[in-house]
Amino acid sequence: MPRDKIILGCTECKSRNYFTTKNKRLHPERVEWKKYCPRCNKHQLHKETK
Ligand SMILES: [Zn+2]
Repeated sequence: MPRDKIILGCTECKSRNYFTTKNKRLHPERVEWKKYCPRCNKHQLHKETK
């Protein structure tokens, strides 16, 4: 099963804070996770970027 690397970027400051993998065949939609952003110094919504 292929697992593709994805990067999660803060939607507020565009900082790329998290690197992870997901199976795009199982999860073709863009992931959105609420994660801590060190630049914003608070939790922000992070979206998958290229
Ligand atoms: Zn941020």
